[in-house]
Amino acid sequence: MLADPLTTDLTDCAGMVVSPGVPLNRHPIAAHARAAGVPLIGDIELFAQARADLPAHRVVGITGTNGKSTTTALIHHIIETAGTPTRLGGNIGLPILGQDPLPAGGVYVLELSSYQIDLTHSLDCDVAVLLNITPDHLDRYDGFEGYAASKARLFAMQSKGHAAIIGLGDAASANIARQVALSGRSEDVTRIAPGVCMDQSRWPALQGPHNAQNALAAIAACEALGIDRAAIDKGLESFPGLPHRMERIATRNGVVFVNDSKATNPESTAPALAAFPRIHWILGGVAKTDSLEACRPGFGHVVRAYTIGEAGPLFARLLEGEMPVEQSGTLEAAVHAAAAQARPGEAVLLSPACASFDQFRDFEHRGDAFRAAVEALG
Ligand code: ADP
Repeated sequence: MLADPLTTDLTDCAGMVVSPGVPLNRHPIAAHARAAGVPLIGDIELFAQARADLPAHRVVGITGTNGKSTTTALIHHIIETAGTPTRLGGNIGLPILGQDPLPAGGVYVLELSSYQIDLTHSLDCDVAVLLNITPDHLDRYDGFEGYAASKARLFAMQSKGHAAIIGLGDAASANIARQVALSGRSEDVTRIAPGVCMDQSRWPALQGPHNAQNALAAIAACEALGIDRAAIDKGLESFPGLPHRMERIATRNGVVFVNDSKATNPESTAPALAAFPRIHWILGGVAKTDSLEACRPGFGHVVRAYTIGEAGPLFARLLEGEMPVEQSGTLEAAVHAAAAQARPGEAVLLSPACASFDQFRDFEHRGDAFRAAVEALG
């Protein structure tokens, strides 16, 4: 019989391994472990503790509210393009502990959510990247400061001389850049200024201003690893992109259908609205905030909005007067309505600004359902 974890004596435990899905701020198991002085750890901490036994290697850790997966996959792709052995893990792909160790000289590239950082205590990243911090997951933290503090810990775990790459597009990230510099590591910090103009025309999977930030962060990370500029350029050009992130899935009668199901908050939808001039916008699901203000700069690009899911009525109210809106309810109905009204040159964009779990298992399921509905149009 399994012992009840809440009454088990934890005195001799070196650590309690918990899934990043466990809310540490309110789950009784977390309180029980803390009371016993037992550290709460996750798989990344186990990896960090096993590093001493691995062949010589380096680790790149990437965090941020938005853009983590894209930047992680991009850095991994560039390293691979440069011919260096590399593995992708953390919050993306296969668990890092389930993968074969790299030969000497390899680079582990880890996407780290704030939940994973909370469960990690000794990961000394050779290169640590913070893209941005905007309100998200606030139910798991003591307010926005607690969420930002979680991201800051990635740098607190680093040794002096290791590279810190930090986006300056928001006040919380800029503050962390200042703190890291003040901690005697000013030489280690590379700052990614917002709004830098770059020629992105040769990077098909890295369009839009948000991807300029992701690309700049990846370039800085790869330069810190000593990868030469020609390999970096080649990697940026050949990066295939990730599914469910502004993924063009079909063109039908001159209308492009774009799957941005991964955009689960208004901040991550904003870049998608900026990327197309005339949009039929499908949005809704489980709202993380009751505001769509972060999307306002793109409202002028929206021809018509179609709301779905739990947040449908709220979003329809918020957008009324700004643009024509219809409450479609389901994704399938929204795709039908949008496809019927879109004209050549326009885009039908699923960029929900919401979590998916009222109608779908996860954002991948939602993106796949969008693709299926588009394919069913014939
Ligand atoms: P994450 O893994 O952090 O959720 P992704 O790379 O999967 O981030 O991108 C999720 C969504 O966030 C994308 O669909 C895109 O619209 C948006 N996004 C990507 N990069 C950025 C960025 N640097 N800043 C703001 N939004 C971004």
